[in-house]
Amino acid sequence: MPYTEQTRTLPVRGTYDVVVAGGGIAGVAAAIAAARCGRSVCLIEKEYALGGLATLGLVVVYLPICDGRGRKVCGGLAEELLLLSAAENAGTIPSCWQRDADQAERRKHRYRVEYNPASLMLSLEKLIGEHSVKLFYDTRCCAVIRSEDDHSVSAVVVENKDGRGAVECRAIVDATGDADICALAGEPTVSLATNCAAGWYYSLVDSQPKLHKLSEPFDPAGATMLPGAGRGYAGDVADDVTAHVLASRQLIRDHQAQLRSERATDTIVPFLIPSFPGFRMTRRLCGAIEVDAVDRKEYPDNIGLIPDWRRDGPVYSIPLRAIRGVRNRNLLVAGRCVSAVGRGWDMTRAIPSCVVTGEAAGIAGAMIAAAGTAEALEAAELQTQLRGGGNRIFLSELE
Ligand SMILES: Cc1cc2nc3c(=O)[nH]c(=O)nc-3n(C[C@H](O)[C@H](O)[C@H](O)COP(=O)(O)OP(=O)(O)OC[C@H]3O[C@@H](n4cnc5c(N)ncnc54)[C@H](O)[C@@H]3O)c2cc1C
Repeated sequence: MPYTEQTRTLPVRGTYDVVVAGGGIAGVAAAIAAARCGRSVCLIEKEYALGGLATLGLVVVYLPICDGRGRKVCGGLAEELLLLSAAENAGTIPSCWQRDADQAERRKHRYRVEYNPASLMLSLEKLIGEHSVKLFYDTRCCAVIRSEDDHSVSAVVVENKDGRGAVECRAIVDATGDADICALAGEPTVSLATNCAAGWYYSLVDSQPKLHKLSEPFDPAGATMLPGAGRGYAGDVADDVTAHVLASRQLIRDHQAQLRSERATDTIVPFLIPSFPGFRMTRRLCGAIEVDAVDRKEYPDNIGLIPDWRRDGPVYSIPLRAIRGVRNRNLLVAGRCVSAVGRGWDMTRAIPSCVVTGEAAGIAGAMIAAAGTAEALEAAELQTQLRGGGNRIFLSELE
């Protein structure tokens, strides 16, 4: 017999122009972009650190922001955060991308970085502080309050050590990775139950840290499990989340045992294991348009370009309609839960793409808040602002 919770009055914990739900790499980008537009911004994160998969998940490869043919595809915050991630490890940026070099030379090396997750976590926190963003850690977004006209989100209900409360917003960015806000606000969403166990971790081998990229085999399109993989897991089902974490930790134990047996030594020990589940694609917005991986397709409402991180050459466009709620006009989406399908989803979930959608969502949210109505959001004006920040919007703008 289910229980009925008592109705209660929620205290208002603050009113902000832009509320960003989720402080992964996409949420950080959205919060910074909105704050740079002069808006009051609140960032709500359920963990105790920023970066999500990119820090707590120990995913430490900032995939390329160039097309593999020597052209830079992403500028703006995507490049700024790449440089920040490399700040304590600058040697990992190919030298041809650190100085003027011709396209022929840049063809040989993709513009990417391997970084230290602890340094990036500290740097992101500092950056958010410098932008006067109100940060809530240990706070989960668990419901939304929608406007009376049924067209927007007025507040997000949060739960933390103070209990439940409401944070009011003029615009909201769903950067939860799992489209939690979309689902709560009645947006159409799609879920995948095909995530395989995965866990990147560091061990100490002869006192030196070594990264191990453990993952069961998976289909990049995310639609099917591959032979040899264990069971599939959904990221939006409570029992699956725990089962996925346990299976991923077992991968680490098995890998440790294998290393020790190969080396016949006990000088190998786990050093740092992920404290965030390694889900690739869980739930996403099913927006007015879905980003597919079709090379050089453009939309009039493009908000950015992303490269193909698996292959040299292709470049994909992301339209505003793929990062905007269908039912809630003041709801923007950023990161791995934007509206993308199949291999398009595999491309939009990479860290640089998450920053591209985060920056666009943050600026779009700021524009809605400034205008006082979501209907005032014009793609052309958003494009102008993004371009001003160093982003490329259309293929003709590639260097
Ligand atoms: C095994 C694996 C390997 C990968 N390898 C690479 C790679 O080499 N390079 C690369 O570029 N990408 C890689 N990726 C993809 C990439 O790391 C992620 O897709 C990207 O970091 C996602 O960023 P995000 O901000 O969209 O989401 P997340 O990192 O998932 O961040 C979401 C944030 O929201 C918070 N949150 C969630 N729900 C709530 C809520 N209800 N209330 C409050 N807070 C909430 C979470 O705690 C989290 O901090 C990999 C992914 C996996 C799983």
